[in-house]
Amino acid sequence: MSDYDVAIIGAGPGGYVAAIRCAQLGLKTVCIDKWVNKQSSASLGGTCLNVGCIPSKALLDSSHLHETIKDEASDHGINAKVASIDIAKMQARKNTIINNFSKGIAGLFSKNKVESLLGAAKIIDENTIEITNDKSEKKLITSNNIIIATGSVPIEIQQAIVEDSIVDNDGALNFDEIPTDLGVIGAGVIGLELGSVWRRLGSNVTLLEMAEDFLPMADHEIAKEALKIFKSQGLNIKLGAKMTETENDEDYVSVTYSDSKGEEELEFDKLIVAVGRKPNSDNLGLDDIGIETNERGFIKTNSQCQTNIENIYAIGDVTPGPMLAHKASKDGIIAAENIANDGNKNTHYENIPWIIYTWPEIAWSGKTEQELKAENISYKVGKFPFLANGRAHALNSPQGFIKIIAADDDKVLGMHIIGPYASELIATGVTAVGQYQSYQEIIDEIHAHPTLSEAVHEAALDIENRTIHI
Ligand code: FAD
Ligand code: NAD
Repeated sequence: MSDYDVAIIGAGPGGYVAAIRCAQLGLKTVCIDKWVNKQSSASLGGTCLNVGCIPSKALLDSSHLHETIKDEASDHGINAKVASIDIAKMQARKNTIINNFSKGIAGLFSKNKVESLLGAAKIIDENTIEITNDKSEKKLITSNNIIIATGSVPIEIQQAIVEDSIVDNDGALNFDEIPTDLGVIGAGVIGLELGSVWRRLGSNVTLLEMAEDFLPMADHEIAKEALKIFKSQGLNIKLGAKMTETENDEDYVSVTYSDSKGEEELEFDKLIVAVGRKPNSDNLGLDDIGIETNERGFIKTNSQCQTNIENIYAIGDVTPGPMLAHKASKDGIIAAENIANDGNKNTHYENIPWIIYTWPEIAWSGKTEQELKAENISYKVGKFPFLANGRAHALNSPQGFIKIIAADDDKVLGMHIIGPYASELIATGVTAVGQYQSYQEIIDEIHAHPTLSEAVHEAALDIENRTIHI
C-alpha cells in the first residue's frame, strides 16, 4: 500500500490548488516544494506568490499610487507634496503581503489536512518520489498518483547573463533604490509591468524588443493604442532591436544592439532580462521513467492533464499552454477531479483571460480580429471609448476603449479592453465567450451607473450602431 493517494510536486497556484481539491475529495494528499525564504523556511505559493503575480502587483499598486499623488492630486484639488518615496518601506509592504499569503496557504493545507514536505523531489518510478532536503538528506515516499506542478523559470540568454547589474524578474522586484537609467530586454508582459513600476518611480526606462511588432498576441488595434499610450508615458520602447552584447559590473551595464537605424550602445544602472519563461522539467527524473516532453521541454498531457503514464499528471507552466496562474489552478482542479473520478473533466482555454497590469490595463478573452481574419471567419465589431464614460473621468482615467467582436449569429467571439480596471471588466467577456452568449444578452442587462461597465454595454450597443453616449 502506498503512503499517499496523491503526491504533488510544487506548491505554486497549480500545485497548492490541486492539493486542496484532492483533499476536499477525500484523497490522502502530500504537497512537496523546495522554495525557502530568507529565513530558510518553506515559502509556499511558487513563482506566482514569491516572485511573480503578487509581488509585481504590490509594486504596481504602490508605484501607481505614487504617480497618481504626484501627477494627479492637484487635479482633484488636493495639495499633496511628494518629497520622497521610501523604497525600503514599499519593499517591506510587498514582502509582508508575500509572507502573509504564504502562511495563508500553510493554513489552508492544515485546514484541509494536506501534508506539506520541504525539499527537492525526483520521480524514481511511477509510484515513488525521492525528496532531498537542504542538508542533502534523502527520503522516499510512495503514492498511487503523482501530479507534477513544477512551474517555469526565466529563459536565459548568453548575451546577458544574470549577474551583478543584470537581473531577472526576481531581482527586478527587489531593487533597493530607483535606478536612474533602467534597461529591459523584452517588451512582453514582465517587461511592461516591471518597466512601468520603475518608470512611475522616476527611472528612465528603455525596452529593447527583438520583434518588429508590439504585443503581437493582443488584438492589433489594442496593441497600437497601448504603444501610443506607453510611449506618451515615457517608456522608451525600441522595436526590432537585436541585442548583440552586454558588459557589466555591480554599478553599470552597457548594451549594444542593432535595429533598422544601425548599431548603438546604451548604458544603464540596471538591466532586466524578461525574454520569456521555460518549463521547469529538468532534474525530475522524467527521462528515466519515460515521461514524454515536447521539443521545448514542456510535459505532454492529454486534455485531462494526464501524462503518457496513466497515474502521473502534469499541470500549469510545466505543460504547454498559457503560462498563467489561473490556468495552472484550473489544471490543478481538473487533475484532482479526474484522479478522484469526480466526473470526466477536460481543459479548454479558448476564453482564458489575459491581462497586462499596466495603467491603463490591457485585458482580453477569446479571438482577436487578426485571428478571425486568418481563419476566414466573418464577424462584426462594436467599440466604445472610455472618453465618453463618466466614471472613467471621475477616476481621471478616460484613456482607451472596449472592443467586442461577435459572430454573424451574434455570439461573442472576443472582448478586448485597454482602459482603467480592464482586469476586472474582462470577467463579462470571459463569461460571454465561454458560455457562447450573444452580445444581445449584454445589451439586455442593466449596467449600473456610473460604472466602467457601462462602456461594455455601450460597446455591445455599438455593434448595432446604437450607442447612447457617442
Ligand atoms: P510555479 O508557480 O512556478 O510553482 C512551481 C513550484 O514548484 C515552485 O514553488 C518550485 O519551488 C516548485 N518546484 C519546482 N521543482 C521542484 C522539485 N523538483 N521539487 C520540489 N518543488 C519543486 N500569471 C498570472 O496569471 N497573472 C499575473 O499577474 C502574473 N504575473 C507574473 C509576474 C511575474 C514577474 C512572473 C515571473 C510571472 C507572472 N505570472 C502571472 C505567471 C505565473 O506566476 C505562473 O503562470 C504561475 O506561477 C504558474 O504556476 P505553477 O503552479 O505552474 O508553477
Ligand atoms: P513574454 O513572452 O510575455 O515576453 C518576452 C518578450 O521578449 C517577447 O516580446 C519577445 O519577443 C522578447 N524577446 C525574446 N528574446 C529577446 C531578445 N533576445 N532580445 C529582445 N527581446 C527578446 O515573456 P515575459 O514577459 O518574460 O513573461 C513570461 C510569462 O510570464 C508570460 O508569457 C506570461 O505568461 C507570464 N506573465 C503573466 C503576467 C500577467 O498575467 N499579467 C505577468 C507577467 C508574466
